Amino acid sequence: MISRWNDEDARRAVERYAQQGVNEDVALRTYSARLLGGDPTLVLHGGGNTSVKSREIDVHGDEIDVLCVKGSGWDLGTIEPPGHPSVRLQPLLRLRALSELSDEAMVNAQRANLLDSNAPNPSVETLLHAFLPAKFIDHTHATAVLALADQPDSERIFADLYGARMANVPYVMPGFALAKLAAEVRDANPEAEGLVLIKHGIFTWGATAREAYERMIARVDDAERFLGASGKTHVQILAPKLDAAAVLPHLRGALMRAGARAHWILDRRDSVVADHPDLAELAQRGVATPDHILRTKRAPLPIAAPNGDLALWTRDVVEPALAKFAAEYQAYFRRNDARVGGGKKMLDPRPRVLAVPGLGLVAVGPRASEAAITGDIAQAWEATLLAAESVGRYEPVGEADSFDLEYWSLEQAKLGKAAKKRLEGQVVVITGAAGAIGSATAKAFAAEGAEIALLDREDGAGIARCDVTDPLQVRDAFDQIVRRFGGVDIVVSNAGSAIGGAMASLDDKKLRDSFELNFFAHQNVAREAVRVLRAQAAGGCLLFNVSKQAINPGPDFGAYGTAKAALLALVRQYALEHGRDGIRVNAVNPDRIRSGLLTDAMIAERAKARGVDEKTYLAGNLLGEEVQAGDVAQAFVFSALLSKTTGNVLTVDGGNVAAMLR
Ligand code: ZN
Repeated sequence: MISRWNDEDARRAVERYAQQGVNEDVALRTYSARLLGGDPTLVLHGGGNTSVKSREIDVHGDEIDVLCVKGSGWDLGTIEPPGHPSVRLQPLLRLRALSELSDEAMVNAQRANLLDSNAPNPSVETLLHAFLPAKFIDHTHATAVLALADQPDSERIFADLYGARMANVPYVMPGFALAKLAAEVRDANPEAEGLVLIKHGIFTWGATAREAYERMIARVDDAERFLGASGKTHVQILAPKLDAAAVLPHLRGALMRAGARAHWILDRRDSVVADHPDLAELAQRGVATPDHILRTKRAPLPIAAPNGDLALWTRDVVEPALAKFAAEYQAYFRRNDARVGGGKKMLDPRPRVLAVPGLGLVAVGPRASEAAITGDIAQAWEATLLAAESVGRYEPVGEADSFDLEYWSLEQAKLGKAAKKRLEGQVVVITGAAGAIGSATAKAFAAEGAEIALLDREDGAGIARCDVTDPLQVRDAFDQIVRRFGGVDIVVSNAGSAIGGAMASLDDKKLRDSFELNFFAHQNVAREAVRVLRAQAAGGCLLFNVSKQAINPGPDFGAYGTAKAALLALVRQYALEHGRDGIRVNAVNPDRIRSGLLTDAMIAERAKARGVDEKTYLAGNLLGEEVQAGDVAQAFVFSALLSKTTGNVLTVDGGNVAAMLR
């Protein structure tokens, strides 16, 4: 590991932040915190914390000592000056004289001493930063240090490796007790430049931002060299032998059927541990640093690889493994809840990481963003474990200490406070996504919290190229989506094209082309969707853009109308055949939407033919209002939400007696 400190960049940061009224201490603190946060082998996703002791003018005009320490919710990789809120230092230092302080009282004391009452909560490690006298303090969960901190004889290893430079702090949960203990260790080792927190991480400090940062890099580099010297840390990652596109929907479905929370996103990662002969035993050892338990739980769930029929594997292997994990988790909860005197609220008992030989590690989250964080942490766990095993034995923090962090009162207080959106965790596929209705539909589903996969034969931002008239491209697109999210829940089959001409003189090829796009392409999409939904065996929803032409044909529009009429029959057929799979199949019938199918030129022409202006033409319905792409998008969202409706046609045309269903 090498230092990425650059004097020129540091100077520019000081200048830039000075324009925002930020002093040099906080500017340099921000600069080097970002250097740490930019390296995932040092800190991951909100992990680690940093501080600087500085002076500020308070409201009375008095210059006071402050601790600027990382606030909760900030990530070191992207932190800005407000990410290190200022806390009055003297009142924090007085707390050290107390013999006990609850976590709630500690958080309250920290908040009460903020200079800005709107600032985020200072880190739970604030007092540790306060009680250490150095000006700049850096704290990370560096993988290489954890590989040595998670050893049975880690104190001896660090004494040999670091000498008097670093002092060891035995494991204590973050909070007041750890802050006091760390300060005592520092006082007993006044020559130390930092602390190793056994089974937790590393602190370094310095008189300048550069000194604290470069000491961190040097100590992590020492640990990396120690591990590298063993010659066994480079493990070749083998490509998965199982087809993730085939396997993931079965895993996802089993998870979705296994409890109250209906939808999960899966994020698969390559893994060596998943293929390890001792996987079952290694998986039980625990997390690399305690706060990872909030993302991954204490242990991943090993699941034996499938060998043949995936549906049978799901029933005979996956479901029993999930049930066993939940039962063991409940026993773990009861055992430890009793130990701490009871009263804790049990968290969801399902695993957050699965380990399947031939497939890898599969992270599980309520949203794609959270599954990705869990995946990153699972990979850091694996890297730490493999490095630790290469030089000794991976022996991280044990069950009781893990539980205390997982069921920390500060974490319990957050439960149930996050609002869940209606379609959170659901994967929505939208075809014809580059068009007006497709893009409005994507926006509407995203607003409901869904994960969106966009397909179109045209290019567009965030859109995957797919010609839905080609069954192979459609299959490939669904496989890609499954590899990305683990499965599919809702499909909006929207791609279409209005092809005109009187039937008797219509070119045969034109008619067949219309059927390719307006009928067969929907069949291609529906077939692939049903394949994935049936593998999940957890319901799902197919939605089709059918158009008013299916009900109320217009003259010289037969190529389009007959294909759409056949599509309406297809919708009903799928509803009929897959109700027993819990798959709902519904149609939306929009009319007169300004889009690629009804262009401005067409609107002008039709308005002229009817002798009205364009506005009157577009508002030519019972409500007298133009119907927009966003109105159609809402109809798709509502159709997806109606859990007991299938085979339905929802008309979005402002009211048109001739197009009413009867
Ligand atoms: Zn920490």
